[in-house]
Amino acid sequence: MKKTILFVTTFCLVFFPLEAQDYWNTEIISVEKDQETVEKLTEMDLDLLMEWNNRVYIIVGFNDFLKLQKENIPYTLETFNFSPYKQKEVSLQGGINGRFHSYAELERDLLALQDSYSHIARVIDLGDSLEGRNIYALKISDNVYQDEQEAELFFVGCHHAREWISVEVSFLLGKYLVENYATNSQIKDLVDQCEIWIVPLLNPDGLEYSIHFYRYWRKNRRDNGDGSFGVDPNRNYSYNWGLDDEGSSPFPSSVVYRGLSPFSEPETQVIRNLFAQRNFQAVISYHSYSQVILYPWGYTNQPTTEQQLLDQIAADMSGLIQSVNGNIYEYGQAAADLYLTNGGMIDWTFGTYNIPSYTLELPPIDQAHGGFFNAEEDIQPIFNENLPAMLYLIDWSVQNFSSGINPSRRRERRSGPIANMKDKNQYGREARARREDKDTTQNSKLKTNEPKTSGVKNKTIDIGNKAINVRKYSPMFIKEHKRK
Ligand SMILES: [Zn+2]
Repeated sequence: MKKTILFVTTFCLVFFPLEAQDYWNTEIISVEKDQETVEKLTEMDLDLLMEWNNRVYIIVGFNDFLKLQKENIPYTLETFNFSPYKQKEVSLQGGINGRFHSYAELERDLLALQDSYSHIARVIDLGDSLEGRNIYALKISDNVYQDEQEAELFFVGCHHAREWISVEVSFLLGKYLVENYATNSQIKDLVDQCEIWIVPLLNPDGLEYSIHFYRYWRKNRRDNGDGSFGVDPNRNYSYNWGLDDEGSSPFPSSVVYRGLSPFSEPETQVIRNLFAQRNFQAVISYHSYSQVILYPWGYTNQPTTEQQLLDQIAADMSGLIQSVNGNIYEYGQAAADLYLTNGGMIDWTFGTYNIPSYTLELPPIDQAHGGFFNAEEDIQPIFNENLPAMLYLIDWSVQNFSSGINPSRRRERRSGPIANMKDKNQYGREARARREDKDTTQNSKLKTNEPKTSGVKNKTIDIGNKAINVRKYSPMFIKEHKRK
């Protein structure tokens, strides 16, 4: 056992009161990854960071130290190896968050988009956060002030405060669509035929806290009344909320605390209210990190009734992303044997509304490549590689708006005229060609390879004239144990 262990423990016990839970007594530690420890860790509710060099890295607060002590798990203090603010020189102009948006900067930039492109962009205040910040949606469509009978899509970023890149990728989608509308007929066609709703920053209080106080902050800033702060918004949706204590936690100090009741938090309430008023056809919730595309269920490893469709769309998106920079985003069902979630957004949007819904974990692939820290110069390339998948999903929604292919269309709908279908988008054309081919010729283009290893099924899909091997999400304990 190392000296640091004893020191840290003593230090914590002496100086920090029991109820203290905030950033100033949070540390990063590592423990050896042996079978016995792994078994103990699975039973504990810990914020696991990564596995490296046969050690498991964990973010721990005061109570976690107690748990480790109780289980006699030796650990090494690693905090000094992870210095958030020093990792990258940030540009002075942007302040501590550099080119990443703060709440105020995002507000300014969203309103600027509305000013410059008022015929297709509209900023809507969905409601207030706990600390009184506005939760904004950017709606993009032709006749943006009308509610037309068109396919509607929903993109959301930043359920989790420390996942800064998810704000950027969602915002850049809006910016790209409005800036290219006048000059790119494919974009114009898409925007004219649907209504795109983007909420780049669902958890503004958490983001501000992450910028100014503690970079690793994840939850919102609910005062839980016991000295701890924060409810995990992505455990607070009502579908199978609190089903078990594995997929979410009843303990306020936990990083995956689900709150006192479903939809107890303003962040999830605004989503609930928006979905009650809209007819969304597809959903992507952006998170970071680990480069995976996940679909429901998260609460169980049983498949949904739409497994094949959800899997195919995910495989197509994975291939489109990979075609840009070669980066592999694995895809598959969210629930892993040892990693369940309940009260998550995509289980709710799918379980309640049958909407094809995805959690997309943005780069990097692991903690060793930066974890929650993305370099400022990577913001644009990460968006660029995600754009074709975004456009594909938009086009897919437009094309299937009136069909029964989209399961969300099988539920009760408002009656009204169906939008005219146009056939211009290149992503759409290729995607449609693949779909039609598949439908009529039974997998002539879509080759499903034999599983290479047990439980892992990869596919080859054609993107344009390139054949791309897409990789099935193969969750193993601690391979990728970041909290979704
Ligand atoms: Zn997340």
